[in-house]
Amino acid sequence: MNIKHKKENLIIVGAGLSGLYTAFLLQDKYNITILEARERIGGRVLSIDGLDLGPSWVWPDHTNILKLIKDFKLELIEQYNNGYAIYDDKTEAQKFTAQKAAPSFRVKGGMHKIIEKLENILKENSNVKIHLEEEVEEVEYTNSTLSIKTNENSYQCDKIVFTIPPRLVTQDISFNPPIALSSINKLNDIATWMGHTAKAAISFEKNFWIEKGLSGFIFSNIGPLMEVHDSSYKDNAALIGFFHSKAKIEKESIKKQIKRIFPLDDKYIKNIYSIDWREEKYTSSLKDKDVNMQYFSYGYDLSLFDEKVDFAGTESSYENGGYLEGALLSAIKISNKLL
Ligand SMILES: Cc1cc2nc3c(=O)[nH]c(=O)nc-3n(C[C@H](O)[C@H](O)[C@H](O)COP(=O)(O)OP(=O)(O)OC[C@H]3O[C@@H](n4cnc5c(N)ncnc54)[C@H](O)[C@@H]3O)c2cc1C
Repeated sequence: MNIKHKKENLIIVGAGLSGLYTAFLLQDKYNITILEARERIGGRVLSIDGLDLGPSWVWPDHTNILKLIKDFKLELIEQYNNGYAIYDDKTEAQKFTAQKAAPSFRVKGGMHKIIEKLENILKENSNVKIHLEEEVEEVEYTNSTLSIKTNENSYQCDKIVFTIPPRLVTQDISFNPPIALSSINKLNDIATWMGHTAKAAISFEKNFWIEKGLSGFIFSNIGPLMEVHDSSYKDNAALIGFFHSKAKIEKESIKKQIKRIFPLDDKYIKNIYSIDWREEKYTSSLKDKDVNMQYFSYGYDLSLFDEKVDFAGTESSYENGGYLEGALLSAIKISNKLL
């Protein structure tokens, strides 16, 4: 006799890389609803005009993300590192020879291309639904019934996988019955990777730094950008940079810095984009703003309510936790458990 099993309902909290990849791996085994608080998917993966305001690079030993990029037929660009770097100090900006970094690669069109590919696949599958602007606030487990509440709706389900940064779990989600203090401490101990940063991308009419024999790498004591890298693709000239922790996130001061380092006319600067991840409610927790609370150690195991509520997300991965690779590894681990 051929017995058909009814598919269980799985709710995934968060449509970042780990949430989407968990859905991708489990899409034929569960009815999946992804609840995402933002009005967009991707979480920390954010590209504007093909420029990355979230992750920019993958490395050769990050094999799962490289394989996904290859499977999705996306093009990799090797990070440009040739030529002199610039040291931007109170005195005049000086050239120096930077130590050769390990090779790294960007995705042509921006890292968000990976998210778009995953979204397109999931959209084709009627087992998967993505709900935007639904912030999860509460999980309840009473009389063997699991339910989850958002700002909009209430759902009953068989299983839940959280993929949000662990500190947001303790800050924003209430559990009924309450979770043990030891679990709260475990989650609070793990800083949100890059939750304390702000990043900018600047596009230019032409790539004048390569013409001048420079790599585009800048290390600055003055700022507002502290560390800058080339982010060009062929004729699309661009730089990306990380702000000093105390710098104001202002386009005008970025422009001033660029013009101080490479004297050039305003007309060569096309666009400036920036994001302060510290102010992103769905990425950075209050604890992430306190630099003294940063313990950069990653990986944890936690399962609640008769193993019906599990936790993934890059911070949960012992290997490459924090990176895109860690996000995929966490999704693989939780999917293996749920299969
Ligand atoms: C500036 C920056 C630079 C980086 N550079 C690199 C790099 O070069 N290479 C690299 O490998 N990695 C890099 N990273 C890290 C990489 O972006 C992350 O590892 C990865 O994107 C994490 O994916 P995730 O799905 O685990 O978490 P997230 O992307 O944070 O996804 C979590 C999702 O949960 C949602 N959410 C939060 N709270 C709730 C709630 N209550 N209810 C519903 N949804 C909620 C969020 O909106 C988000 O969409 C960088 C990150 C940043 C910010």
